[in-house]
Amino acid sequence: MIAIERVLEADGTVALWAVNRTAGDLSGERRFLGYEQPVRAYQSAHKTPIAVCWSDGGTIGHVEIFNRDVLAALPGQNGENVSVGCDIVAAGKMRNGADRWWCRTHQAHWGTKTDIVAAYSTGNLVCSSQTQPVSFVVNPLDLLPDEHAEVGVWCSMPPAITSAGLQVRRRPKIHLHIRDEANGIKIFDNDVSALLIKYGARGDLFSATDTTTVAITPPAAFALVTALEEGRPMGHIDCKNCGAPHLDLGEFSRTAHIKHLCGSCGRDGIRSSEPLISTPLKPLQDHFNPEPVFIDVDRRLSIDDFPGAAFAIWASTPAVLWKADRPQERGIHVHLSVNGKREIDETFGSVIYRGKELKRADLLAVMIQNTLT
Ligand SMILES: [Zn+2]
Ligand SMILES: [Zn+2]
Ligand SMILES: [Zn+2]
Ligand SMILES: [Zn+2]
Repeated sequence: MIAIERVLEADGTVALWAVNRTAGDLSGERRFLGYEQPVRAYQSAHKTPIAVCWSDGGTIGHVEIFNRDVLAALPGQNGENVSVGCDIVAAGKMRNGADRWWCRTHQAHWGTKTDIVAAYSTGNLVCSSQTQPVSFVVNPLDLLPDEHAEVGVWCSMPPAITSAGLQVRRRPKIHLHIRDEANGIKIFDNDVSALLIKYGARGDLFSATDTTTVAITPPAAFALVTALEEGRPMGHIDCKNCGAPHLDLGEFSRTAHIKHLCGSCGRDGIRSSEPLISTPLKPLQDHFNPEPVFIDVDRRLSIDDFPGAAFAIWASTPAVLWKADRPQERGIHVHLSVNGKREIDETFGSVIYRGKELKRADLLAVMIQNTLT
Protein backbone atom coordinates (compact mmCIF):
# COMPACT_ATOMS: atom_id res chain seq x y z
CA MET A 1 0.00 0.00 0.00
CA ILE A 2 1.25 3.47 -0.83
CA ALA A 3 0.58 6.19 1.72
CA ILE A 4 1.21 9.91 1.83
CA GLU A 5 3.22 11.31 4.71
CA ARG A 6 3.14 14.98 5.63
CA VAL A 7 6.48 16.01 7.12
CA LEU A 8 6.81 19.35 8.87
CA GLU A 9 10.18 20.88 8.03
CA ALA A 10 12.22 23.28 10.19
CA ASP A 11 11.05 26.35 8.24
CA GLY A 12 7.40 25.44 8.75
CA THR A 13 6.76 24.09 5.26
CA VAL A 14 5.04 20.73 4.87
CA ALA A 15 6.76 18.21 2.60
CA LEU A 16 4.69 15.46 1.01
CA TRP A 17 6.25 12.01 0.64
CA ALA A 18 4.81 8.90 -0.95
CA VAL A 19 5.77 5.86 1.11
CA ASN A 20 5.49 2.24 0.04
CA ARG A 21 4.20 0.39 3.10
CA THR A 22 4.01 -3.34 2.68
CA ALA A 23 2.19 -5.05 5.53
CA GLY A 24 4.03 -4.66 8.82
CA ASP A 25 6.99 -2.90 7.18
CA LEU A 26 7.20 0.82 7.94
CA SER A 27 10.67 1.29 6.43
CA GLY A 28 9.39 1.12 2.86
CA GLU A 29 10.74 3.12 -0.04
CA ARG A 30 10.00 6.84 0.12
CA ARG A 31 9.60 9.34 -2.64
CA PHE A 32 9.56 13.11 -2.25
CA LEU A 33 6.59 14.64 -4.14
CA GLY A 34 6.71 18.32 -3.33
CA TYR A 35 5.44 20.85 -0.82
CA GLU A 36 1.94 21.40 0.46
CA GLN A 37 1.01 25.10 0.31
CA PRO A 38 -0.31 27.08 3.30
CA VAL A 39 -4.12 27.19 3.42
CA ARG A 40 -4.31 30.85 4.39
CA ALA A 41 -1.95 31.93 1.62
CA TYR A 42 -4.54 34.40 0.43
CA GLN A 43 -4.22 36.47 3.59
CA SER A 44 -0.45 36.21 3.98
CA ALA A 45 0.23 36.99 0.33
CA HIS A 46 1.34 40.42 -0.80
CA LYS A 47 -1.37 43.06 -1.02
CA THR A 48 -0.80 43.12 -4.74
CA PRO A 49 -0.78 39.74 -6.43
CA ILE A 50 2.16 39.00 -8.68
CA ALA A 51 0.28 36.90 -11.16
CA VAL A 52 -3.31 36.04 -11.92
CA CYS A 53 -4.65 33.03 -13.78
CA TRP A 54 -7.88 31.59 -15.14
CA SER A 55 -8.97 28.71 -17.29
CA ASP A 56 -11.71 27.90 -19.75
CA GLY A 57 -14.63 25.94 -18.42
CA GLY A 58 -13.98 26.71 -14.76
CA THR A 59 -16.97 26.78 -12.41
CA ILE A 60 -15.07 28.46 -9.58
CA GLY A 61 -11.99 30.62 -9.62
CA HIS A 62 -8.69 30.71 -7.82
CA VAL A 63 -7.33 33.85 -9.37
CA GLU A 64 -4.04 34.71 -7.73
CA ILE A 65 -0.89 32.63 -8.01
CA PHE A 66 1.26 32.89 -4.89
CA ASN A 67 3.05 29.54 -4.98
CA ARG A 68 6.71 30.46 -5.60
CA ASP A 69 7.47 27.20 -7.40
CA VAL A 70 4.51 27.66 -9.76
CA LEU A 71 5.46 31.32 -10.32
CA ALA A 72 9.08 30.42 -11.09
CA ALA A 73 8.02 27.79 -13.62
CA LEU A 74 5.53 29.99 -15.52
CA PRO A 75 6.34 29.98 -19.25
CA GLY A 76 6.90 33.74 -19.69
CA GLN A 77 5.12 36.93 -18.61
CA ASN A 78 1.75 35.92 -19.98
CA GLY A 79 0.25 32.93 -21.68
CA GLU A 80 -2.99 31.77 -23.16
CA ASN A 81 -3.99 28.13 -22.75
CA VAL A 82 -0.65 26.88 -21.52
CA SER A 83 0.34 24.19 -19.10
CA VAL A 84 0.95 25.44 -15.54
CA GLY A 85 2.12 23.42 -12.53
CA CYS A 86 -0.14 22.06 -9.78
CA ASP A 87 -0.47 24.04 -6.55
CA ILE A 88 -1.44 21.69 -3.74
CA VAL A 89 -3.12 22.63 -0.48
CA ALA A 90 -4.62 20.46 2.29
CA ALA A 91 -8.42 20.16 1.91
CA GLY A 92 -9.59 18.09 4.87
CA LYS A 93 -10.70 14.49 4.53
CA MET A 94 -12.43 12.39 1.92
CA ARG A 95 -15.63 10.49 2.76
CA ASN A 96 -13.57 7.39 3.60
CA GLY A 97 -11.52 9.38 6.12
CA ALA A 98 -8.35 9.61 4.02
CA ASP A 99 -6.55 12.92 3.68
CA ARG A 100 -7.62 15.08 0.78
CA TRP A 101 -5.84 17.86 -1.07
CA TRP A 102 -6.87 20.50 -3.58
CA CYS A 103 -5.03 21.79 -6.65
CA ARG A 104 -5.49 25.56 -6.84
CA THR A 105 -4.23 25.76 -10.38
CA HIS A 106 -6.53 23.19 -11.96
CA GLN A 107 -9.38 23.20 -9.44
CA ALA A 108 -9.41 19.52 -8.64
CA HIS A 109 -9.20 17.39 -5.51
CA TRP A 110 -6.22 15.07 -5.14
CA GLY A 111 -5.51 12.09 -2.93
CA THR A 112 -7.40 9.08 -4.29
CA LYS A 113 -5.62 5.71 -4.39
CA THR A 114 -5.06 6.18 -8.12
CA ASP A 115 -3.56 9.64 -7.55
CA ILE A 116 -1.21 8.33 -4.88
CA VAL A 117 -0.01 5.29 -6.85
CA ALA A 118 0.69 7.54 -9.85
CA ALA A 119 2.61 10.02 -7.68
CA TYR A 120 4.70 7.23 -6.16
CA SER A 121 5.62 5.76 -9.53
CA THR A 122 6.48 9.08 -11.21
CA GLY A 123 7.67 11.15 -8.23
CA ASN A 124 5.39 13.94 -9.44
CA LEU A 125 2.31 15.14 -7.67
CA VAL A 126 -0.09 16.02 -10.46
CA CYS A 127 -3.85 16.37 -10.16
CA SER A 128 -6.38 14.71 -12.46
CA SER A 129 -7.01 18.03 -14.26
CA GLN A 130 -3.33 18.77 -14.84
CA THR A 131 -3.77 18.79 -18.61
CA GLN A 132 -6.38 21.56 -18.33
CA PRO A 133 -4.75 24.59 -19.96
CA VAL A 134 -4.53 27.82 -18.00
CA SER A 135 -4.16 31.46 -19.04
CA PHE A 136 -2.10 33.81 -16.90
CA VAL A 137 -0.53 37.28 -16.66
CA VAL A 138 2.44 38.21 -14.50
CA ASN A 139 2.19 41.77 -13.14
CA PRO A 140 -1.18 42.64 -14.70
CA LEU A 141 -2.06 46.30 -15.19
CA ASP A 142 -2.66 47.80 -11.78
CA LEU A 143 -5.26 50.57 -11.75
CA LEU A 144 -6.47 53.03 -9.10
CA PRO A 145 -9.74 54.45 -10.48
CA ASP A 146 -9.65 57.26 -7.88
CA GLU A 147 -6.63 58.70 -9.70
CA HIS A 148 -8.67 59.27 -12.87
CA ALA A 149 -11.73 61.33 -13.78
CA GLU A 150 -13.44 58.42 -15.50
CA VAL A 151 -12.80 54.71 -15.77
CA GLY A 152 -14.89 52.16 -17.64
CA VAL A 153 -14.23 48.42 -17.74
CA TRP A 154 -16.27 46.08 -19.91
CA CYS A 155 -16.29 42.43 -20.79
CA SER A 156 -15.45 42.37 -24.48
CA MET A 157 -17.32 39.70 -26.40
CA PRO A 158 -17.25 38.74 -30.08
CA PRO A 159 -19.30 40.98 -32.39
CA ALA A 160 -22.78 39.70 -33.26
CA ILE A 161 -22.57 40.77 -36.93
CA THR A 162 -19.58 41.65 -39.09
CA SER A 163 -19.19 42.71 -42.70
CA ALA A 164 -17.21 39.49 -43.27
CA GLY A 165 -20.47 37.62 -42.66
CA LEU A 166 -18.88 34.87 -40.56
CA GLN A 167 -19.68 34.13 -36.92
CA VAL A 168 -16.78 35.16 -34.72
CA ARG A 169 -16.19 32.79 -31.81
CA ARG A 170 -13.59 33.78 -29.26
CA ARG A 171 -12.80 34.00 -25.57
CA PRO A 172 -13.96 37.04 -23.61
CA LYS A 173 -11.50 39.89 -23.09
CA ILE A 174 -11.43 42.95 -20.87
CA HIS A 175 -11.87 46.37 -22.43
CA LEU A 176 -10.66 49.45 -20.57
CA HIS A 177 -11.29 53.17 -21.07
CA ILE A 178 -9.53 55.79 -18.94
CA ARG A 179 -10.25 59.53 -19.11
CA ASP A 180 -8.52 62.22 -17.09
CA GLU A 181 -11.27 64.75 -17.87
CA ALA A 182 -14.98 64.06 -17.63
CA ASN A 183 -16.20 62.91 -21.06
CA GLY A 184 -12.83 64.09 -22.43
CA ILE A 185 -10.29 62.34 -24.59
CA LYS A 186 -9.56 58.70 -23.74
CA ILE A 187 -6.00 58.30 -22.48
CA PHE A 188 -6.44 54.51 -22.62
CA ASP A 189 -8.77 52.64 -24.98
CA ASN A 190 -7.71 49.05 -25.38
CA ASP A 191 -8.17 45.41 -24.44
CA VAL A 192 -6.18 44.01 -21.55
CA SER A 193 -5.86 40.34 -20.62
CA ALA A 194 -6.49 40.96 -16.90
CA LEU A 195 -6.62 43.93 -14.57
CA LEU A 196 -6.07 44.70 -10.88
CA ILE A 197 -8.28 47.38 -9.35
CA LYS A 198 -7.38 49.01 -6.05
CA TYR A 199 -9.86 50.97 -3.99
CA GLY A 200 -10.21 52.16 -0.43
CA ALA A 201 -13.35 51.76 1.63
CA ARG A 202 -13.70 55.50 2.28
CA GLY A 203 -11.91 56.92 -0.70
CA ASP A 204 -8.75 57.65 1.31
CA LEU A 205 -6.75 55.10 -0.53
CA PHE A 206 -3.29 55.45 0.88
CA SER A 207 -3.96 55.89 4.58
CA ALA A 208 -6.57 53.15 4.68
CA THR A 209 -5.43 49.75 5.83
CA ASP A 210 -8.59 48.37 4.28
CA THR A 211 -7.54 48.93 0.70
CA THR A 212 -9.12 46.28 -1.46
CA THR A 213 -7.46 44.79 -4.51
CA VAL A 214 -9.73 42.98 -6.93
CA ALA A 215 -8.50 41.06 -9.94
CA ILE A 216 -10.71 41.23 -13.03
CA THR A 217 -10.21 38.21 -15.27
CA PRO A 218 -12.10 37.55 -18.51
CA PRO A 219 -14.28 34.68 -17.19
CA ALA A 220 -15.14 36.68 -14.05
CA ALA A 221 -16.14 39.71 -16.15
CA PHE A 222 -18.22 37.48 -18.44
CA ALA A 223 -19.98 35.80 -15.49
CA LEU A 224 -20.82 39.21 -13.97
CA VAL A 225 -22.21 40.69 -17.17
CA THR A 226 -24.35 37.69 -18.08
CA ALA A 227 -25.70 37.49 -14.51
CA LEU A 228 -26.50 41.22 -14.59
CA GLU A 229 -28.26 40.97 -17.95
CA GLU A 230 -30.41 38.10 -16.69
CA GLY A 231 -31.05 39.62 -13.27
CA ARG A 232 -29.60 36.74 -11.25
CA PRO A 233 -29.00 37.35 -7.52
CA MET A 234 -25.37 38.28 -6.92
CA GLY A 235 -23.36 38.99 -3.82
CA HIS A 236 -20.02 38.26 -2.33
CA ILE A 237 -18.66 35.96 0.35
CA ASP A 238 -15.13 35.15 1.47
CA CYS A 239 -14.11 31.58 2.27
CA LYS A 240 -14.11 31.22 6.04
CA ASN A 241 -11.42 28.54 5.83
CA CYS A 242 -8.77 30.28 3.69
CA GLY A 243 -10.02 33.88 3.41
CA ALA A 244 -10.11 33.91 -0.40
CA PRO A 245 -12.89 35.84 -2.15
CA HIS A 246 -15.34 33.30 -3.57
CA LEU A 247 -15.77 33.52 -7.33
CA ASP A 248 -18.52 31.58 -9.10
CA LEU A 249 -17.98 31.00 -12.81
CA GLY A 250 -19.58 29.05 -15.65
CA GLU A 251 -22.30 26.71 -14.42
CA PHE A 252 -22.09 28.10 -10.86
CA SER A 253 -22.63 31.65 -12.18
CA ARG A 254 -25.86 30.58 -13.88
CA THR A 255 -27.67 29.31 -10.77
CA ALA A 256 -27.80 30.99 -7.37
CA HIS A 257 -26.69 28.59 -4.63
CA ILE A 258 -26.20 28.47 -0.83
CA LYS A 259 -23.40 25.87 -0.53
CA HIS A 260 -20.18 26.97 -2.21
CA LEU A 261 -17.00 25.07 -3.05
CA CYS A 262 -13.91 27.22 -2.50
CA GLY A 263 -11.60 27.42 -5.53
CA SER A 264 -8.63 28.35 -3.36
CA CYS A 265 -8.72 25.62 -0.70
CA GLY A 266 -11.17 22.99 -2.00
CA ARG A 267 -13.43 23.10 1.08
CA ASP A 268 -17.09 22.73 0.27
CA GLY A 269 -18.69 23.86 3.50
CA ILE A 270 -18.95 27.58 2.75
CA ARG A 271 -22.53 28.82 3.02
CA SER A 272 -24.07 32.10 2.07
CA SER A 273 -27.07 33.33 4.06
CA GLU A 274 -29.23 33.19 0.94
CA PRO A 275 -28.84 31.65 -2.53
CA LEU A 276 -26.51 33.80 -4.58
CA ILE A 277 -23.79 33.91 -7.19
CA SER A 278 -20.64 35.11 -5.46
CA THR A 279 -18.14 37.41 -7.13
CA PRO A 280 -15.80 40.08 -5.75
CA LEU A 281 -16.67 42.10 -8.87
CA LYS A 282 -20.14 42.86 -7.43
CA PRO A 283 -18.87 44.90 -4.41
CA LEU A 284 -16.32 46.48 -6.76
CA GLN A 285 -19.07 47.57 -9.14
CA ASP A 286 -21.28 48.77 -6.26
CA HIS A 287 -18.41 50.80 -4.78
CA PHE A 288 -17.98 52.98 -7.86
CA ASN A 289 -21.53 52.92 -9.22
CA PRO A 290 -23.99 51.85 -6.51
CA GLU A 291 -27.07 52.75 -8.53
CA PRO A 292 -26.27 52.29 -12.21
CA VAL A 293 -28.22 54.55 -14.52
CA PHE A 294 -28.53 53.79 -18.21
CA ILE A 295 -29.74 56.03 -20.98
CA ASP A 296 -31.12 54.60 -24.16
CA VAL A 297 -29.24 56.33 -26.94
CA ASP A 298 -31.39 57.92 -29.64
CA ARG A 299 -28.80 58.20 -32.42
CA ARG A 300 -29.73 56.34 -35.60
CA LEU A 301 -27.56 54.64 -38.20
CA SER A 302 -28.19 52.71 -41.36
CA ILE A 303 -25.34 50.37 -42.27
CA ASP A 304 -26.95 50.22 -45.72
CA ASP A 305 -25.80 53.84 -46.31
CA PHE A 306 -22.20 52.55 -46.40
CA PRO A 307 -22.01 49.95 -49.18
CA GLY A 308 -18.68 48.09 -49.13
CA ALA A 309 -17.74 49.33 -45.64
CA ALA A 310 -16.06 47.03 -43.11
CA PHE A 311 -18.01 46.89 -39.85
CA ALA A 312 -18.69 45.05 -36.62
CA ILE A 313 -21.84 45.33 -34.49
CA TRP A 314 -22.32 44.59 -30.79
CA ALA A 315 -25.07 45.03 -28.22
CA SER A 316 -23.82 47.43 -25.55
CA THR A 317 -23.31 45.65 -22.23
CA PRO A 318 -23.31 47.01 -18.67
CA ALA A 319 -19.84 48.01 -17.47
CA VAL A 320 -18.05 45.75 -15.01
CA LEU A 321 -16.75 48.98 -13.45
CA TRP A 322 -18.13 52.44 -14.18
CA LYS A 323 -16.60 55.42 -12.44
CA ALA A 324 -18.08 58.56 -14.01
CA ASP A 325 -20.68 61.18 -13.10
CA ARG A 326 -22.84 60.36 -16.09
CA PRO A 327 -25.07 57.47 -17.06
CA GLN A 328 -23.92 54.51 -19.12
CA GLU A 329 -25.17 54.38 -22.69
CA ARG A 330 -27.38 51.48 -23.73
CA GLY A 331 -27.86 50.58 -27.35
CA ILE A 332 -26.01 49.03 -30.28
CA HIS A 333 -22.28 49.66 -30.66
CA VAL A 334 -20.87 49.95 -34.18
CA HIS A 335 -17.35 50.12 -35.59
CA LEU A 336 -17.37 51.01 -39.26
CA SER A 337 -14.48 51.72 -41.60
CA VAL A 338 -14.50 52.95 -45.18
CA ASN A 339 -11.39 52.24 -47.27
CA GLY A 340 -9.52 51.22 -44.11
CA LYS A 341 -10.33 54.44 -42.25
CA ARG A 342 -12.45 54.20 -39.07
CA GLU A 343 -15.48 56.44 -39.64
CA ILE A 344 -17.77 55.29 -36.82
CA ASP A 345 -17.07 54.09 -33.27
CA GLU A 346 -20.28 54.90 -31.45
CA THR A 347 -23.37 53.53 -29.73
CA PHE A 348 -26.74 53.96 -31.47
CA GLY A 349 -30.35 53.52 -30.44
CA SER A 350 -31.46 52.33 -33.84
CA VAL A 351 -29.33 50.48 -36.39
CA ILE A 352 -30.69 49.42 -39.77
CA TYR A 353 -28.96 46.54 -41.54
CA ARG A 354 -30.21 45.06 -44.81
CA GLY A 355 -33.39 47.11 -44.45
CA LYS A 356 -34.27 45.78 -40.98
CA GLU A 357 -33.90 47.33 -37.55
CA LEU A 358 -31.55 45.27 -35.37
CA LYS A 359 -32.67 44.27 -31.86
CA ARG A 360 -30.20 44.68 -29.00
CA ALA A 361 -31.43 41.51 -27.23
CA ASP A 362 -30.90 39.38 -30.37
CA LEU A 363 -27.37 40.73 -30.80
CA LEU A 364 -26.55 40.06 -27.15
CA ALA A 365 -27.78 36.47 -27.39
CA VAL A 366 -25.45 35.83 -30.35
CA MET A 367 -22.51 37.46 -28.53
CA ILE A 368 -23.03 35.29 -25.43
CA GLN A 369 -23.47 32.16 -27.52
CA ASN A 370 -20.23 32.87 -29.43
CA THR A 371 -18.16 33.59 -26.31
CA LEU A 372 -15.93 30.63 -25.47
CA THR A 373 -15.72 30.01 -21.74
ZN1 LIG B 1 -3.35 20.55 -10.74
ZN1 LIG C 1 -11.06 28.57 0.81
ZN1 LIG D 1 -20.46 29.52 -5.22
ZN1 LIG E 1 -15.98 51.12 -29.91
